[in-house]
Amino acid sequence: MKTMEPSAREEVSQSDQTHTSMRTDCQGMPPLTARLEPWMTAPGTISQLHHLVQEHGSPLNLIHTDPFLRNIDALYQVAESHQVDFDVYFARKANKCLAFIDAAHSRGFGIDTASENELHQVLKHQVPSEKIICTAAVKSEALLQACIVSGTTLAIDNPDELSRTALLSARLDRQAEIALRISGFQHDGHKLPSRFGFDIEKIVPLLRDLQQSAPNTLQTLNLTGVHFHLDGYSQAQRISALRQLLPLVDQLRDMQFPIRFIDIGGGFPMSYLDSETEWNEFWMIHKQALLDRQEPLTWQNHGLGLQRVEDRLIGKPHCYPYYQSLVQADWFNGILSAQYETGIIASALQERTLQLRCEPGRSILDGCGITAARVESRKQQPNGDWLIGLSMNRTQCRTSSDDFLVDPLLVPAMDESPLPRTPPGTSGFLTGAYCTESELLCLRKLQFTRGVGIGDLILFPNTAGYFMHFLESRSHQFPLAKNLVYHPQTGEYHLDAIEAP
Ligand SMILES: *Cc1c(COP(=O)(O)O)cnc(C)c1O
Repeated sequence: MKTMEPSAREEVSQSDQTHTSMRTDCQGMPPLTARLEPWMTAPGTISQLHHLVQEHGSPLNLIHTDPFLRNIDALYQVAESHQVDFDVYFARKANKCLAFIDAAHSRGFGIDTASENELHQVLKHQVPSEKIICTAAVKSEALLQACIVSGTTLAIDNPDELSRTALLSARLDRQAEIALRISGFQHDGHKLPSRFGFDIEKIVPLLRDLQQSAPNTLQTLNLTGVHFHLDGYSQAQRISALRQLLPLVDQLRDMQFPIRFIDIGGGFPMSYLDSETEWNEFWMIHKQALLDRQEPLTWQNHGLGLQRVEDRLIGKPHCYPYYQSLVQADWFNGILSAQYETGIIASALQERTLQLRCEPGRSILDGCGITAARVESRKQQPNGDWLIGLSMNRTQCRTSSDDFLVDPLLVPAMDESPLPRTPPGTSGFLTGAYCTESELLCLRKLQFTRGVGIGDLILFPNTAGYFMHFLESRSHQFPLAKNLVYHPQTGEYHLDAIEAP
């Protein structure tokens, strides 16, 4: 399957060329140019792609764990520069592949699990229970038991969960390791609403009450941490939360709870695009289009969260902020450097010998995946737009966001098809395999400089965080996409262990 390697220099120039034409052969109108990692467009990857899709089906998810480790290392470096005791717990619901678990484990990083199966798989892959947290939104008795028996820390969400964990621990005669999920932080004069966790104003009275009325309950619980996970990507909100949690930790310690860590959850921002200008221009033109002052950029002028009411637009974009300026480690550094009392948050953690933990998912998967799908049909609509049918459905590159606002790439078919390519400059939309009118893989109109042929591959870049698996469905009895892991030493791709029964 492996092709002969050209010399290093040839490889670079060939890589540049492939890379450029892959981009220009499929571009948004206007473009939203993807950030790519070298492995994604390396000749070694591209030359195998058609064979891999033939062998494993379309679409196909390719993943690589090196960027994952690099992203995590950058967070540790920030914490280290502030001399803060720190641990990352990878939120594995963002990607189901076990390669990420093994990579994290090989470096001693932790894992955040969100279900019983996620937990069992992680335990089976030898991750020690001190390096696992369970933040499942709803926890069955079986899950609570699995956590208690294995020694996995439970992030407790509500009084019922707390009581059930205590009862179960007593029955199993084993202490449960727990952290309390806290919410309801004050920010900018408002309380941040959340369906998760204990309200920050209620937790101390609740624990005081338990200490008095049911001391046995608390004896079975080893309360070692406080935890939050906020919706969105606001740095300022997380700073507010920490400023309110530090005094809470002091209070809990005064009440004899052995608090060792604060866990700030995930939601670390990332960028899918390099160009802020492209991002701003896209929205500027899109808004004009929604007001009928410009050709539509989207399928049937889909608003992507914005709505026209007479001559104005209401609502806000219902899309991930694909371009963000302060991301990843720099964003995290801003949290640690934020003021707290007379010092900064980092020094407040240090003085208290508190460990800081976090549970990023999406952001540490930046650069770790692509999804490839095969073109099966092209047809022109009466209005001139082309519809490009792919062997793929929209749950296979999708999150709760209205659209994937990153330009795909195009890899031309390997063999000459008996059917001619569409004319150069063809423009239109990518459609998927579900039987609904709304089944589009991208809502944005795309242009294909050299046309589109049967057997071409469309590559969706940077899909490892959520896009691959979060909403994937087996509707219509389509099989789920296969997941292949890149092995840089051999240049080969192998099925991820998640595919094994
Ligand atoms: C989903 C989730 C995360 C990960 O969030 P990202 O936005 O992917 O970083 C972390 N913690 C909890 C509790 C979550 O539910």
